Amino acid sequence: MSEAMGAMKAAVLDRLRSETLAHAVLLDGPRGSGKSEAALWIGRAAVCEGKKPPCGTCEACRSFEGLSDLDLLVLRPIDRPVWVERERAESFFPGGVREALDRIAGEGFLRAPIPDPVSRPLLPLRLDPSSFLRRTKGSPRLDRNAFEARLEASSLEDAEKAFVRETARPGLSLEWYISTIGIGLMTGAGEGGGLGGRSGILPFLGRRPAARRRKVVVVEEADRMTEEAENALLKTLEEPPPGSFLLLTTSRREALLDTIRSRCERIRVRPPPPDETKRAAARFFHAIDPEEWKSLLLLGEGVPRQAAEIDLDLFREERKKAEDLFQRAASSPVAEYALALGTWAEEVEETGAPETLAADRLSLFLLLARERAVRASAEGPAGDAPFAAAERVFAFAHGALSGARPGTNSRLLLEEFGVELRRLLRAAAGGKG
Ligand SMILES: [Zn+2]
Repeated sequence: MSEAMGAMKAAVLDRLRSETLAHAVLLDGPRGSGKSEAALWIGRAAVCEGKKPPCGTCEACRSFEGLSDLDLLVLRPIDRPVWVERERAESFFPGGVREALDRIAGEGFLRAPIPDPVSRPLLPLRLDPSSFLRRTKGSPRLDRNAFEARLEASSLEDAEKAFVRETARPGLSLEWYISTIGIGLMTGAGEGGGLGGRSGILPFLGRRPAARRRKVVVVEEADRMTEEAENALLKTLEEPPPGSFLLLTTSRREALLDTIRSRCERIRVRPPPPDETKRAAARFFHAIDPEEWKSLLLLGEGVPRQAAEIDLDLFREERKKAEDLFQRAASSPVAEYALALGTWAEEVEETGAPETLAADRLSLFLLLARERAVRASAEGPAGDAPFAAAERVFAFAHGALSGARPGTNSRLLLEEFGVELRRLLRAAAGGKG
């Protein structure tokens, strides 16, 4: 545990002891900085019956830890990776982890790309939400029985099925949501509203605790609430039911309504300091080039876990493409560059989530521009043309990145970025564009 996290926990314990902690708490910090763990820790501390909360041994602590408590409700987006120890995977598949994981992905239970099990002691695996979906008249909804039926009917071997079950289990004891938290999850009403029979966040909070002192709800990535859902939650925040305790986490605090933010007590979760993040590489990779780890950290907002979620093969491939385009933007004849740019931009449409790939690609240009700026300032005085060009590319990529959101035309976004990239680089080199 980092020092900052330790201080945060001590402060929370003080507030719990003096019963001055608000009914609603907003944990904010970068993705992967440990907000979910911190939220569950606070939830345990709030219900613990031991002398030193959270003691970890009392019945309340254990029941919360196993996510099986009737007074705990956790909502988590299904696209978050599940971290599996490679050794654990090996115990299931002594014949070869890679082959087994590829088969499981092939049957639609895990999402490609599968991380390389040889180079990693911890594998970030992503469950494929389609394996949990049941088609209904309205929007498709997550359904455990549908998942079990699909698993049984698949051609996977017993060990592979058992592995899928175990990987999915933590998620099965909490409540997954697909991409956004709509009004149905909030109120429990209507199609797609049933939280595994627990009928919505608000009714859950409003009921009397079954066994504990408090009813605890954790909503991860709360910025994914729709405005309608946020407004529904607001009423509860204004008059919190007795014994209710709401923990929201977000890495995009600014995306929440002002009124939600102002009614929650803010707890900041900070990323670990740089010396700690440098050492953290060993937790996630057996051997990784320090320069490459530095790049991953930059892309992962300085948070090791977020950096380690990035697929290395994909990163290297994308980086090569971006380097190539960067080079061509500066020096290729315009027709040749236009062709390369067109191909690069078009590729995003072949993926299931074009805006995600577009955002990843623009982030990569931030990284390349930053590297070039560092190199340029090492080679000549700052303010030199190469440095200025790199700085401009950085600023422009930053602006373009904010445009990569659901609903935008991602291909067009990349094309426009590429055109401007060339203009910036040619102008810096004194060319005519
Ligand atoms: Zn306890």
